[in-house]
Amino acid sequence: MTGHNAQGTRFSESAPLVIGADGPSSRVASSARAEEYNAKPALQGTAWIYWEGFLLDHFELHVRDFEAIFAFPTSGSCTLIGAYWSIDRFREARAQIEPSYLEVLRRAAPDLADRAASTKRADDRIYLGSTRNFFRKAHGPGWALLGDAHYKKDPCTAQGITDAFCDAEALADAIDKGLSGKCDLAAVIAEYERSRVAWALPFYELTCQLATLAPPPPEMLALYVALQGNQQDIDRFIGLITEATSRTDFFAPDNVQRILRRSQVSNSGRGAQLGIGPCESAVDSLLICRASRCVVRKPSPQVVDDAQVSKGAYRRPERCYRGSAACCTPASLLCTSRTSGSSGSACSQSLSAAVSSLRIVAESPLCSARTAAT
Ligand SMILES: Cc1cc2nc3c(=O)[nH]c(=O)nc-3n(C[C@H](O)[C@H](O)[C@H](O)COP(=O)(O)OP(=O)(O)OC[C@H]3O[C@@H](n4cnc5c(N)ncnc54)[C@H](O)[C@@H]3O)c2cc1C
Repeated sequence: MTGHNAQGTRFSESAPLVIGADGPSSRVASSARAEEYNAKPALQGTAWIYWEGFLLDHFELHVRDFEAIFAFPTSGSCTLIGAYWSIDRFREARAQIEPSYLEVLRRAAPDLADRAASTKRADDRIYLGSTRNFFRKAHGPGWALLGDAHYKKDPCTAQGITDAFCDAEALADAIDKGLSGKCDLAAVIAEYERSRVAWALPFYELTCQLATLAPPPPEMLALYVALQGNQQDIDRFIGLITEATSRTDFFAPDNVQRILRRSQVSNSGRGAQLGIGPCESAVDSLLICRASRCVVRKPSPQVVDDAQVSKGAYRRPERCYRGSAACCTPASLLCTSRTSGSSGSACSQSLSAAVSSLRIVAESPLCSARTAAT
C-alpha cells in the first residue's frame, strides 16, 4: 500500500493481509479487482434539511406512493426533515430540489411543513443522497473487504453501520483464528464471507424492495392488518428491521399462521372482509418477500366513492408512522381488495372496516432504541 500522512509525506507499507474498510468506492476493492454481483441501480433519492428551533421527541415517517417524508431529532436542537422520492421522481425533483422538497413536505406531512415554516434552517444547505446497491467478492489472496466496501445498500433501512460493525467483528474473529494458527487463514476468511452474505442477502433484498417506495404486495398487507393491536408481535416485527428478531423464526409458517389466526379470532374475520386469502397463501408469499414493516398512526376514517375507485382516481391519503416503520393505509387496503378481485362495493365496505380498526402500533422499545442509535 502507498499513501501519505497528514503532513503530505508519502509512505508505503506492506502486510500479509490488507483489509479494505474504505467505503463503497473502495480503493482496495478496485486494486484487487473485486467483482461486483447482485447489483441494483439506485432506487430512491433523498434530500434533507436541518431545521433549528423545534425538536421532535420521536421519529416520524409519512409514506405515500413513491415518495415519503421522515423526521427525527438530531444534535444542536435541530430536527432533520428528509424527503424520499423513487429514483425517477428524484431525477425530476433534482432540477428544482428545494421547491420539490417543500412541495412533498407540504403534501405528505402538512403538520411538519407548518412547523418548518415557522422556524429557521440551521444552514443554507440542502443535502442530497442516492446510492447504488451491490455486493462485492469479499476476499482474495492477501486482501479482504468489510462494511460498505463489501456490500452497499440503500440507507432506507438504516442498517449500514450495524452491518459494517458485524462484518468487522466477524472478520476480526476469522483473522484471529487464522493468524494464531488455530485454522487455515484463507479458509476462515472464506467462511467469513459466506456467513456474512447468507445473513445479509435477505435483508439486502428487503431493503431494495422498500427503497422503491412502491405499495407493498397484498400478502404483506394481510400481515400488516393482522398485526394491528397485537403489540407483542408488532415489537417482534419491528425487531426484523433492527435485526433483533430472527427472520427465520418470525416468518416460519407456524408463526405467521398463528398471527393471522389470532387476528381472525379477535377481529371476527376482518381478514375475510378485506378479501385477503387464506393463511397458507399469505405464508407462501411472505416467505418470498421475507419481511416488511408497518405501523399506522391515527388514520382518519374515510369513505371512498366506488366510481372513484373504479376509475383509479383515488389517491393514497397521508400516512403517518412512528418508529422504524412503513406502510399500510386505507388506500393500501383498498389495493388489497382490488387485487383480490372484490367488487366495488365490497371495496368500500372493506375500507370502512379496515379504517375503523387501525390504530397506533409502534410504541416499541426496540423502535426507540433504534431511532436513538441512528
Ligand atoms: C444518505 C445516507 C444515509 C445513511 N443513513 C444511515 C443510517 O441512518 N444508519 C446506518 O446505519 N447507516 C446509514 N447509512 C449507511 C452508512 O453510512 C454506511 O453503511 C456506513 O458508514 C459504512 O461504514 P464503512 O466503515 O464501511 O464505510 P465508510 O463510513 O464510508 O468509511 C470508509 C472510510 O474510509 C476512508 N477512505 C476511503 N478511501 C480511502 C483511501 N484511499 N485512503 C484512506 N482512507 C480512505 C473514508 O474517508 C472513510 O472515512 C447512510 C448512508 C447514506 C449515503
